Amino acid sequence: MTQQTAVPIVEQVREVVQAVVEVLREPKVGEISPSVAANSFEAEALRAEIIRVGRKLWEREYVDGNGGNISVRLGPKYVLCTPTMMSKGDMEPADICLSDLEGNILAGDRPRTSELLLHLEIYKENPRARAVVHCHPPHGTAFAMTGTTPPVGLVPEYEIFIGPVAVAPYETTGTRAFAETVLPFVQDHNTILLANHGIVCWSDTITHAEWLVEIFENYCKTYLIAKQIGEPLVFIPDNKIQEILLLKRRMGLPDARMERIAEPALQEAAASGELDRLVAQVVERLEAQD
Ligand SMILES: [Zn+2]
Repeated sequence: MTQQTAVPIVEQVREVVQAVVEVLREPKVGEISPSVAANSFEAEALRAEIIRVGRKLWEREYVDGNGGNISVRLGPKYVLCTPTMMSKGDMEPADICLSDLEGNILAGDRPRTSELLLHLEIYKENPRARAVVHCHPPHGTAFAMTGTTPPVGLVPEYEIFIGPVAVAPYETTGTRAFAETVLPFVQDHNTILLANHGIVCWSDTITHAEWLVEIFENYCKTYLIAKQIGEPLVFIPDNKIQEILLLKRRMGLPDARMERIAEPALQEAAASGELDRLVAQVVERLEAQD
């Protein structure tokens, strides 16, 4: 009788199941070449979303001339972004650039936006940011010109989606120094004012990042109108703000007034949980055959 090494059956099954899962696994975007990533269904859908959001920004007068830019992550290694010198209201799918996380263009007919560096710093600093929108909405940018932010505690929807915003210091646009101005703020703020320039918002999707722009701009506008009424502003009571913060925590939204939300369960952990379930099923069947 041969001497068997005492590897528990669970471990043996785990190895086999892991090998099978590895073979059957679809390659993720990012593990594939830039040209395959650029031509994937996912990229096609994201380009359409960039174009849709670009039109919204232009129609709502949040961008002017060639101003503003939009980007979105495509898998772990790539980013789709708007081109330079183009109105956000006139873009076609072929105008959208594919870049790596260092800002090198890998696909697309046009040069990328010079402000992509700002987006890339946000992605590198905060993995929860999957899409970034930068633009110059008039009321929000008016605050950026004064280096001040609107007060919080006045409108619940604004408190939920945004809350306190930060002001990143002024730097020359398009430079690395400019891109790095937002770094201290990107964990606790999904909306950041860029001094004497405009605003930048990050979220899980391009559409949601654009919602933040709308919510912020509308809040700034409404606040400025409320100030003109000449009556004192009435603030939401502190205990009600605490209720909002609890809600934000459940929704996974950042807010500088509360402790940072820990990263949601890592994908690895999820994958290992799935593997454990598969292993348990196989072992159960093997034992049933004994
Ligand atoms: Zn700008």
